[in-house]
Amino acid sequence: MTLADERIERLHALAADAASAGHDDRAREYVRLARRVAERNRRSLPRRFKRFSCDACDAYLRPGRNCRVRTQDGHVVITCDCGSQARYPYR
Ligand SMILES: [Zn+2]
Repeated sequence: MTLADERIERLHALAADAASAGHDDRAREYVRLARRVAERNRRSLPRRFKRFSCDACDAYLRPGRNCRVRTQDGHVVITCDCGSQARYPYR
């Protein structure tokens, strides 16, 4: 685990906390920061992080609050409030 990984983990936790406290803008800032850290250090974001953040608007996603989660043809489809959709296959 590198320092960058640790920072990403911490930012992920902060984003989750901020989002659950209703501070969506702050959560978004943490998501952006974590993405930047990952980019600069060429780390990939943990899967959990990818699943719970919107690629288009960087929102930290909370099912039932700012995104919809549906299953369709063997995929989980996550629709952010901004309209962006992400699809992940599941087995
Ligand atoms: Zn979005």
